[in-house]
Amino acid sequence: MKKILLIATGGTIASGMTENGLSPQIDAEELLSFLPEYAEICDVDCIQPFSVDSTNITPGHWLKIANVIEKKYTAYDGFVVTHGTDTLAYTAAALSCLIENPEKPIVLTGSQRPISDADTDAKKNMLDSLRFAASGHQGVCVVFGGRIIDGLRAKKIRTKSDDAFRSINAPEITAAKKHSKNVKFYYNLCRDVFLIKLTPATDKSVFGFAKRFRGVVVEGYGLGGIPDCYLDKVIELAENGTVVAITTQVMYEGCDLSVYEVGRQIKGKKGIIETFSLTAEAVTAKLMFALGQTDDADRIQQLFIQ
Ligand code: ASP
Repeated sequence: MKKILLIATGGTIASGMTENGLSPQIDAEELLSFLPEYAEICDVDCIQPFSVDSTNITPGHWLKIANVIEKKYTAYDGFVVTHGTDTLAYTAAALSCLIENPEKPIVLTGSQRPISDADTDAKKNMLDSLRFAASGHQGVCVVFGGRIIDGLRAKKIRTKSDDAFRSINAPEITAAKKHSKNVKFYYNLCRDVFLIKLTPATDKSVFGFAKRFRGVVVEGYGLGGIPDCYLDKVIELAENGTVVAITTQVMYEGCDLSVYEVGRQIKGKKGIIETFSLTAEAVTAKLMFALGQTDDADRIQQLFIQ
């Protein structure tokens, strides 16, 4: 039987009602005790590196999860990380960068209602995750609401319903994927990254403020267009050494700076990274990862193309 490590980190799935509202209350073992059926799928050991509402997740938590997986890597056939849904897409993207080419499944899951609720979606999500973790898949993925999504492609699209995640700009995973590469763990993330979501009323001074960061993600419009009034500011930011990653506010189909004048004006400029089909969550995690490895803008662009 496959040996799976359950890494519980909190979230709604482990929450109970308190006088101050829902918050994580139960540990990994207790979570597993709701699922006696797991014993027919795999052997499971439990570990609980921390227990938080995922609203409170920071890059330090991502590194901690990656560290647990690295330490236990040879002892297990796969890993299931239970996590709050609110920032799960960021954690999945960060782990996809920090753990390159895993030969084992690393599955993130959670639920919209606590596992102790009569109508919980947690049991299905956990059993689906354990089944997929025992499948021999090689990579980081999100299993949720009956869908299997690559770790760099997940986005939370619903705040309440079971079917809460979508795969953005990539097909869902339908069967275990294999590769013939070797795993590599990374340990550095740059936290000095900021995100600007443009509105028609955004004040130009935001770009002056952004100068203090090593990386800035700009959520432009449509295919990634940047309004003329900010053009000089964005170019100046990049010329001053801040890496500027352009993404879009639109959920599907990504950006392409080659189509409109408002995109071409910045396309290919040094220090400006075009992020194509990645979500803003994935772009943010990837930029933090890339700047954790190098300062070189060309190398960073390469990391985005990979
Ligand atoms: N606020 C919760 C969290 O992200 C929501 C959830 O888990 O569904 O931890």
